[in-house]
Amino acid sequence: MDIEEFRTRGKEMVDYICQYLENIESQRVHPDVETGYLRKLLPSEAPEQPEEWDNIMYDVDKNIMPGITHWQHPRFHAYFPSGNSFPSILGDMLSDAIGCIGFSWAASPACTELETIVMDWFGKAIGLPSDFITSSEGSTGGGVIQTSASECVLVSMLAARNQAIKYLKTENPQMEDSAFLPKLVGYCSKEAHSCVEKAAKILLVKLRILDPDENGSLRGDKLREEMEKDKEKGLFPFFVSAILGSTASCSFDNLEEIGPVCKEQKRCWLHVDAAYAGNGFICPELKYLLNGIDYADSFNTNPNKWLLVNFDCSCLWVRDRIRLTHALVVDPLYLQHANADESIDYRHWGIPLSRRFRSLKLWFVIRKYGLSGLRAYIRNHIKLAKHFEQLVLQDTRFEVVNDVRLGLVCFRLMACDAANQKLLAMINASGKIHMTPSVVRNKYIIRFCVDAEHAKEEDVDYAWEVIKEFAVETLATGAK
Ligand code: PLP
Repeated sequence: MDIEEFRTRGKEMVDYICQYLENIESQRVHPDVETGYLRKLLPSEAPEQPEEWDNIMYDVDKNIMPGITHWQHPRFHAYFPSGNSFPSILGDMLSDAIGCIGFSWAASPACTELETIVMDWFGKAIGLPSDFITSSEGSTGGGVIQTSASECVLVSMLAARNQAIKYLKTENPQMEDSAFLPKLVGYCSKEAHSCVEKAAKILLVKLRILDPDENGSLRGDKLREEMEKDKEKGLFPFFVSAILGSTASCSFDNLEEIGPVCKEQKRCWLHVDAAYAGNGFICPELKYLLNGIDYADSFNTNPNKWLLVNFDCSCLWVRDRIRLTHALVVDPLYLQHANADESIDYRHWGIPLSRRFRSLKLWFVIRKYGLSGLRAYIRNHIKLAKHFEQLVLQDTRFEVVNDVRLGLVCFRLMACDAANQKLLAMINASGKIHMTPSVVRNKYIIRFCVDAEHAKEEDVDYAWEVIKEFAVETLATGAK
């Protein structure tokens, strides 16, 4: 494709995107395809000869689009939102065109510097302690954009593991680093995302998954009790991942209690995972949910979930960047440069060497909406979740099972798990709306999340009508 064809096809693609998003409501939310449907439609070998663009786009329409789950559909209420907006799409487009690989300052100075600046903007807007903000007086910390929240948790745990081993080594300098691994134990609540468990698996450390209280909140006493038991066994509590806004029910651990317990330990890193909820903290009325953040060593939130930025854009801040990079620095000659002493090289802040120019889309979004526009977006979602909560509460056949503070409502038919499973399966099979399940207090529940950028009350009302329609059908089968 030469530049003239790109100019033409690029404009056509923008039209295609506009048409897709303008007409998305006419589609089923979830596709009606069988597993393996695409293999039957596409050739089994890659084409030897170049193909016409029109043919490729024909296949997009005919074969790809029918298998798409439309995450931007106003009736998509599953998971958490998948951030999307026109300024973000344009930011990614430009980033793709620039195509730089910003692993070091020298590899593309603007790519590195914009990331630092935008992470400072966003961190300040959230209300993170000044230690996390690179440009604050005397700050030793800073922010970095990672691919996913899972990666943020993994590198935080890695830094914690490194810090703990370094400490333990002072008493036993002759021992191999790996010899300390069996002593290390981390903690999270049952409400924590499974990525914490995955990180512990990768890093070969023990993880205690603790029971939260009846509100889904991990409490300080419970954590202390478990740590004491572990210390009696000769183990070393090295890491806690607290959750603010859990995936299952948007519950919040008690950071103000957990923080001091971590500080009582010799070297225990406190990470705060607020992948979804953290974006909401740009609203002053939600900042109370961040109380206790002063105890944290690291914090992550994903603008690609709830701040209109396309995947991938997962923001991680650390209080002390040296403690993070110490676990990750390797420095071959071919990556060194003359400005390394006075600049940030983000290659030392994460696992991959290569990194996209992700700050561009975050910068576009923050500038185009302004913080006021982003707050309006967050508040609209919360208002609509509250509206849905009221609809459920008014129907005695149902119950709401979470404390609705943000955009997620967890509810269930007052019937057995099987009936709720059946209800959700029927709703999703209809393609009218899409929701996902989880478990709260050992019961199967349905999650209703306000996901679409321009979500409206009528979408919520429509969803409730669909849910009621299938509830009648479910209960008619005699489900109890
Ligand atoms: N943490 C929380 C609270 C989440 O809700 C999720 C995903 O929904 C994750 C972590 C994992 O996110 P990612 O897909 O960015 O790894």
